[in-house]
Amino acid sequence: MTINELRKQFPDEMSCRLFFESMIWSSGRVCPHCESAKSWMIKGQSAREGLYECGRCGLQFTVTTQTPMHSTKLPLWTWLLAMYLIGSSSKGISSVVLGRLIGTTPKTAWKVGHAIRAMMASVPAELPLLMGVVELDEKYLGGRPRFQKGVKHKCGKGTAKQCIAVAVEREGSARATLVPHAGESVLGPFVKGVVDTAAYLMSDHNPAYVKIAESFAGHSFVDHGEREYARGEVHNNTAESYNAILERAKIGVFHYMSKEHMQRYVDEATFRWNQRVPDVSHTRRGKEKVVMKPLPVIEKIQNLLRVALNVQIRWTPNSSIYAIA
Ligand SMILES: [Zn+2]
Repeated sequence: MTINELRKQFPDEMSCRLFFESMIWSSGRVCPHCESAKSWMIKGQSAREGLYECGRCGLQFTVTTQTPMHSTKLPLWTWLLAMYLIGSSSKGISSVVLGRLIGTTPKTAWKVGHAIRAMMASVPAELPLLMGVVELDEKYLGGRPRFQKGVKHKCGKGTAKQCIAVAVEREGSARATLVPHAGESVLGPFVKGVVDTAAYLMSDHNPAYVKIAESFAGHSFVDHGEREYARGEVHNNTAESYNAILERAKIGVFHYMSKEHMQRYVDEATFRWNQRVPDVSHTRRGKEKVVMKPLPVIEKIQNLLRVALNVQIRWTPNSSIYAIA
């Protein structure tokens, strides 16, 4: 879908609003304050477009109430365009570029980007546990130490960079979260929380996984220390390629991710990874090959809006930092 086709399908605020309403209230309009299904549209010259009043609690609401777009002053078309641009990019868009494309200041675009990332973060909660062959890995993400010229962080364990635990199902979806270190005490609860116990684990030689794997169907690992990266089907290269996407997004798009907001960027990468479906294609020799194909961007936008209700972000008075309520 091109931007032209998007504009043709949603030519005005009304069409955007009807689309948002059909996605956010997919099983009928509900009051975001009390969940009552009884409400009516407020009509009259002074009433805003799309304003409803609840029949039970009497409070007013619109389609963006209690979503990350709560009390937005931007047209819904701007939100839709931002979702389209972020959803169709391969690694994300910096707030400076996003602002230029949607016609806002970089600061507003930064907020829009994080609001959309908050919706992206809610999508994995709806997904089932990882099954089949699940690859595990850790990723250390961060820039060079600040204010110290020529100094680099150590590689791997013992670095001051942020550690991220990663679990990826082969030809399936991914989960990733920030963790304080790569020890068994934190990786264990993460893996047990996102992976089905009937799954077969693959990892590198981190001894933590041997202990964790006792609760799962099986476990194989490759020893990167011995420069072993694959032994037939035994490898964790899928998890490594997820990690590479995170690294490329940091280097090529965002340049700097503070530890404070890094989980949101990780959630964006995970959303993008998970919004793909296996597609069978053929190699030149006619052999069957499964490749992961991204979903059409309009479906990604629909999946974002479906989880938007009750996802909230709060801005601090200086409007720079937020917390999920
Ligand atoms: Zn109500």
